[in-house]
Amino acid sequence: MDAYEPHRIEAKWQRVWDDADAARVDEPDPSKQKSYVVAMWPYPSGTLHMGHVLVYTIGDVLTRFRKRQGMEVLHPIGFDSFGLPAENAAIRDGIHPFESTERNIETITQSMRRMGWAFDWSRLIAAHEPTYYVWNQWLFLKLYEAGLAYRKGAPVKWCPKDQVVLANEQVHDGRCEYCGTEVIAKNLEQWFFRTTAYAQEMLDELDNLDWPERIKAAQRNWIGRSEGAEIQFRVDELQQDVAVFTTRPDTLYGATFFVLAPEHPLVERLIERSPNGEELRTYVQRAAAKRGEERAAAEEKTGVFTGFFATNPVNEARIPIWVADYVLMDYGTGAIMAVPAHDDRDRAFAETFDLPVVAVIDEDDRLVDSAQFTGMPAEEGKRAIVEWLGERDCATPAISYRLRDWGWSRQRYWGTPIPIVYCDGCGTVPVPYEELPVLLPHIDDFRPRGIAPLAGAEEWVRTTCPSCGGAAKREVETMDTFVDSSWYFLRYTDPHDSEAPWRRDLADYWNPIDQYIGGVDHATMHMIYARFFMKALNDLGLIGFREPFAAFFANGWVNLGGTKMSKSKGNVIGPDELLDRYGADAVRLYILFIGPANEDMDWTDDGVEGMVRFTRRLWRLVSTAAESASREAPPVNELSRKAHETIVRVTDDVGRRQSFHTAISAVIELLNELSRAGAGDPAARFAAETAVALIQPYAPHVCEELWQKLGHERLWESPWPVADESQLQRDTFELVVQVNGKVRDRFEVEATLEEEELVARALASPKVQQHIDGAQVRKTIVVPRKLVNVVVG
Ligand SMILES: [Zn+2]
Ligand SMILES: [Zn+2]
Repeated sequence: MDAYEPHRIEAKWQRVWDDADAARVDEPDPSKQKSYVVAMWPYPSGTLHMGHVLVYTIGDVLTRFRKRQGMEVLHPIGFDSFGLPAENAAIRDGIHPFESTERNIETITQSMRRMGWAFDWSRLIAAHEPTYYVWNQWLFLKLYEAGLAYRKGAPVKWCPKDQVVLANEQVHDGRCEYCGTEVIAKNLEQWFFRTTAYAQEMLDELDNLDWPERIKAAQRNWIGRSEGAEIQFRVDELQQDVAVFTTRPDTLYGATFFVLAPEHPLVERLIERSPNGEELRTYVQRAAAKRGEERAAAEEKTGVFTGFFATNPVNEARIPIWVADYVLMDYGTGAIMAVPAHDDRDRAFAETFDLPVVAVIDEDDRLVDSAQFTGMPAEEGKRAIVEWLGERDCATPAISYRLRDWGWSRQRYWGTPIPIVYCDGCGTVPVPYEELPVLLPHIDDFRPRGIAPLAGAEEWVRTTCPSCGGAAKREVETMDTFVDSSWYFLRYTDPHDSEAPWRRDLADYWNPIDQYIGGVDHATMHMIYARFFMKALNDLGLIGFREPFAAFFANGWVNLGGTKMSKSKGNVIGPDELLDRYGADAVRLYILFIGPANEDMDWTDDGVEGMVRFTRRLWRLVSTAAESASREAPPVNELSRKAHETIVRVTDDVGRRQSFHTAISAVIELLNELSRAGAGDPAARFAAETAVALIQPYAPHVCEELWQKLGHERLWESPWPVADESQLQRDTFELVVQVNGKVRDRFEVEATLEEEELVARALASPKVQQHIDGAQVRKTIVVPRKLVNVVVG
């Protein structure tokens, strides 16, 4: 038997696949079921890390599995090469982003090829190439014409070090996510997309998507819908009404003070007139730098009295107006009527500042001390009060969303130029389509410095107005990288088109993505923005569907020694050194064997050594079977039955349950059985072939080599094994798993399993884990050969 040499074998098969264009899809074959598999494209901000290894191995396993199941699978890759990650890497390394980006793309591409990931390289795209970003500009013009893109002044969070606007979720403990610098508040003109136009639809359609429940919950929370009423409070001194959104109009008679968010537009006017002006101004500046959720959740309540009063429209009571940071501008109207008797945060505030507390709802949920509404049940009171105020033009029923329009322009260099010019005579003028692309000029001083670096490219900025021919200036801000990633999966379907961003029939054929894979950290921003784009593009008649991601797999974090790998902690291991040490197959196997791929995992050297031993054992057992096992058709015996059972388990684990680690365990069990039976067993050859055929999506190189030893060709396009039902009888049953009495998963298990093992299998199910959601398992109830009920809470 020849020795197992992973490096030689891997290089050999990678060449063969390249020569055979094994991963390439040209015109799709309409007789096959299509499957579009996309793992989120990487930022080329350095080299690959283990998180990439995880996400792309999942995509590759599903791609190889589905191809062999007879599907037409498109599995492309590209680079999210514009934006802060790539630009910050360039600044860190002291290299111009044009150069560092190209260099990083080359390095990462080499690692990707060494990992044996079957991407269709003929479709490679990169966001920083004009052939890509010209279509960002084209799409922007379409959205602008449709009124879905606009410019307005807005308060923003600003990182003084990175010199850039940050989104709320890029701020942690008042500090910048990228550099840790304390964030300050600023008022800036910015470009927005009207994401709020689709808030309700985005919420409704979540029900139809095959996504993990926690991702749906994150989006629901992000969109944040609530029903209530908008109520006008009069501020006499300013001769102005201020609107409040409340879900509890039934508590209006209990309002004892009024609170404005520090960012509320009225605050500036109050500061000018208030005796507490200076104190207010300092407070507002401090509050603006803090992150919204932290402000809202803070135990200790802070605030400043403005010296002004608002009139409650139900009873003409004058209540004091405070500015306090537990009220957020990006929820409701940024102003609240505070009802300390019936709201915890209002109560905490009232206790801190000694403000009155007036109860207006009793234990029976009826209104008290509420004039003519006294005695009404609360639900009825809500409607009645809003109706009564409505007749006086002081209230309207309203729905509020937390979702805000997406501000996406950046005062940075490394991004798509926005195709807009400013003309003294004509104002804001879009660049005509035939003049696209507006190329990003190559400037030496690309570093951020408070104003957009492109402002320094004077020749580039100076232009003529497309409308009147007079002198005009170009927009100097660039697009955020999330614009690039909102539609890249459409471009993959027609990546080299120079006439259009995509061919409608191709985009419609492949989309929506059948399996999207990526980190939980993109569950809100990126995946909200992409959904917005699809709905808008559908309304513009550019595509024939409205949702981008039919199914989503959210992968876990890869930790090392119990902590998240990060450069600052110095505990990063890259795939390249692992490839040198162990080869691709062992690394691919291990990253999926550590545990459920949708949970956080801990990488250990011992673990990967274990997978190296597994590949050697596979090599030895299969080589021996290839050399000496009988070539007769396999009989029905224990080993053949085990092989058929394994086919069922692996097919179910990889295909339906996406439980990648248990599929590897199943093949290990089959090898144990083969080892025990020996090459003399009449089913030994069949068992060896089955093991190789089933583990191929994980370890494609060694399996291809062994397949050849077994006398076959081109495993990568051979049909996926199908179990012989007659050999399965009584050997397995369908286990139903419930969580608190609700069915959460069902899958095949061996009939021989003890109760303990059944419980272990039940708890290993990602779907079950998702519903347990970290809660304490109180007990498990097992009905033999039928069911496991997990009781939590
Ligand atoms: Zn920063
Ligand atoms: Zn003009």
